[in-house]
Amino acid sequence: VHRPHEASDFQEDIHVVSNADGAAIGVIALHSTALGPAAGGCRFWHYDSHADLTADAIRLARGMSYKNAVAGLPLGGGKAVLQRPAGSFDRAALFRAFGNAVESLSGAYVTAEDVGTTVADMERVRERTRFVAGLHAEPGKSGGDPSPWTARGVFEAMRTAARFAIGGDLEGLTVAVQGTGNVGAALCRMLRAAGARLVIADIDHRRVDALVAELGARAVGVDEIVAADADIFAPCALGGALNARTIPALKARLVCGAANNQLATEADGETLMARGIVYAPDYVVNAGGIINVSAEYLGEAPEEVAQRLGEIAPRLTRILEAAAAGTTPPHIVADALARRIIARGHRAAA
Ligand code: NAD
Repeated sequence: VHRPHEASDFQEDIHVVSNADGAAIGVIALHSTALGPAAGGCRFWHYDSHADLTADAIRLARGMSYKNAVAGLPLGGGKAVLQRPAGSFDRAALFRAFGNAVESLSGAYVTAEDVGTTVADMERVRERTRFVAGLHAEPGKSGGDPSPWTARGVFEAMRTAARFAIGGDLEGLTVAVQGTGNVGAALCRMLRAAGARLVIADIDHRRVDALVAELGARAVGVDEIVAADADIFAPCALGGALNARTIPALKARLVCGAANNQLATEADGETLMARGIVYAPDYVVNAGGIINVSAEYLGEAPEEVAQRLGEIAPRLTRILEAAAAGTTPPHIVADALARRIIARGHRAAA
């Protein structure tokens, strides 16, 4: 399917991923290849319909284009979303089939981990294509699970944004973390080490219990985390955490977390600003994982990763300052920056 999009920065391509029997198991959405191959992870999750799954892939692919552009990476944006089967299934065969689909795009799309996928899954993909990263890291080289890098970038961004929005260090502040998966749990450990207090929630009780025992975090229900008494709200689960229902309940003064597509709609970013809540744009702060993936794919050294990771917090400060100086919310400032960078890539390629 090839559809021109209303925005001028890209063309959208959606490729259906099929299993060995020819049944559709997901899609790969390519948002932009103006700056390089469309790069973005593979989500493995349950969706009620193929339409929901496709809509999520399109949104996530756009977010990857913007994330990669703003992070200064020579990559476009794309995303794969695969339907998680309800019953038992052959996981290795599923990810090999996905690998065939990635290979069929001849390098236009590069995959890695996202929600629901692991390094072991990417190793299966690697059996069918070389356009994959997030593989087992070799000593001295970039690679491996990107989530610790994502957590590191979010943590540094949060520290900077807390100074900006609250006027102090993280020590003694309370952070409400929604979702304690790979990134959320790593973030909790860094926050605890920095002296922050933690309130956490996850639909997976085992994950919550483990962090309560390890870090002394306070657990609340998944319906209570948004309204928890906290200085900072960190969405680290799935998208849409900030919406017309949740924003009025927020007590935090700052939102800074790892989840992609945190704003349910553009208007929700305006509402946050009107409420005086500082929003650290998701794709600006959660770029650490793709920075590591990019270095692995391009054969760059771990020092390059540290360098690019270190640029996240100062970049966020510039965006927050630009937003505070006028009436444009931070997510719009970030989007405009991303579009300018992508448009430059288009012109350079023309
Ligand atoms: P993960 O699957 O390891 O963790 C997600 C966690 O959220 C799980 O523990 C899940 O049980 C929980 N969850 C789901 N719905 C929830 C709800 N309604 N309330 C509370 N908890 C809920 O995934 P991850 O890799 O930690 O990624 C988390 C988020 O960060 C995702 O939005 C992902 O797209 C984004 N992200 C991840 C990376 C990365 O490097 N892994 C990079 C950039 C962005």
